[in-house]
Amino acid sequence: MNFDLGPESEAFRTEVAAFLDEHVTSDVRERVRRTGSMHDWELHRALASRGWLAAGWPEEYGGQGRSPLELMAMREELKKRHAPTEGMGMTMLVARTVLEHGTERMRAGIVPRAINGEILICLGYTEPQGGSDVASARTRAEQDGDEWVINGQKVFTTLAEEAAYVFLLTRTSTGSAGPDEGDPPPRQGKHRGLTMFLVPMDAPGIEIHPIRTIGGERTNTVYYTDVRVPDDARVGAVNGGWDVLLRALTYERSGIGEDSRLLSAIVEAAGDPGAAHSASSGDPTVRERLARLAIDVEVAKLLGRRSCWVESTGGTPTVEGSMHKLFSAESRVRFSSVLLDLLGPQGLREVGDPKAVAGGAFAEEFRHAVILPIWGGSSEVQRRIIAERGLGLPRST
Ligand SMILES: Cc1cc2nc3c(=O)[nH]c(=O)nc-3n(C[C@H](O)[C@H](O)[C@H](O)COP(=O)(O)OP(=O)(O)OC[C@H]3O[C@@H](n4cnc5c(N)ncnc54)[C@H](O)[C@@H]3O)c2cc1C
Repeated sequence: MNFDLGPESEAFRTEVAAFLDEHVTSDVRERVRRTGSMHDWELHRALASRGWLAAGWPEEYGGQGRSPLELMAMREELKKRHAPTEGMGMTMLVARTVLEHGTERMRAGIVPRAINGEILICLGYTEPQGGSDVASARTRAEQDGDEWVINGQKVFTTLAEEAAYVFLLTRTSTGSAGPDEGDPPPRQGKHRGLTMFLVPMDAPGIEIHPIRTIGGERTNTVYYTDVRVPDDARVGAVNGGWDVLLRALTYERSGIGEDSRLLSAIVEAAGDPGAAHSASSGDPTVRERLARLAIDVEVAKLLGRRSCWVESTGGTPTVEGSMHKLFSAESRVRFSSVLLDLLGPQGLREVGDPKAVAGGAFAEEFRHAVILPIWGGSSEVQRRIIAERGLGLPRST
């Protein structure tokens, strides 16, 4: 591939960068830190007012028809500034799936509100007993006349406290009869009894309990007790939820992103002759470790661009997206522990400590990085996709 994103994307990057310099302020960062919410309404609405929540969607659906390369330039700028855009990512991937599988009421009523930045949609896939094995969902939806009655528990429903809807994975049949002969592998057994719904978060019977993670981010456990929704809250066919979910997962491949901001900060810290910490650019072992970090940052960036290039040439970057997610998540974990090692005890000073190096960003990244190989599909899940779909190895289970 040509790793240059091209003049149109670079022009768009300049526009986005100027906008973000104005809107991703220290106030926004402070709010995110205080609430643990990986979303900021002010920034979200400002992005919506420029039409950038749906920048890559076709114009007939309310988007700007921007190319995957332009979107890559925008994503790189957002990630460079640690902009809190998880709400945007989740909402738009569900909205995109709803355009394909949702009812007319959803397409006309919910999707435009998502594009305009009025509402968020959260993801209700993971359950406490199932973890990565989402197809083992036990949250039941039972039909009662024109309605469905939902009972169960989800865990790690990020932004449930802000969202207007949850894109909910439910079990509508046991699907335990085992695979039918000739069934394609993804729809065997338990995968066949699943159905997706778009459930309003203010429906009676929904209870949200916060979970604070080690990185400071907030996510939630959500209980569903006799929650009633009409049949037109269903997305896709009854027992056809796995296909809808797989479609949604293809839109969820933003990767994690490299951390060039911290690399610049550590290079600067290492060059400070009066510093109290132990990293010094005069030490050859420090220089070597910094060079390795710089290589990881570059590799993560290029894997992201490769995935985007596959998309821009009409492909679906399932394997490339997994490679990017896997490498960038794991290199961020390595990166954050090397940084603390280089800085010594000074690196542990937290945000708010006037003596903290780079405002406490190193300690913060160390706590935050541990969740990266888990959320959005764990590293083992990504390795499995690469092994089976990329290398053609046999299925492991
Ligand atoms: C901060 C945070 C936010 C999240 N937000 C959301 C959200 O908004 N919505 C949502 O639905 N989910 C969300 N998740 C869930 C996340 O995407 C993972 O799917 C989930 O955390 C995995 O379950 P678990 O933590 O119980 O780990 P487990 O699945 O129990 O995994 C434990 C370990 O076993 C490994 N493992 C699991 N299965 C296999 C296998 N088949 N082969 C080899 N190794 C395996 C895993 O890689 C991991 O190392 C979030 C998670 C976190 C931590």
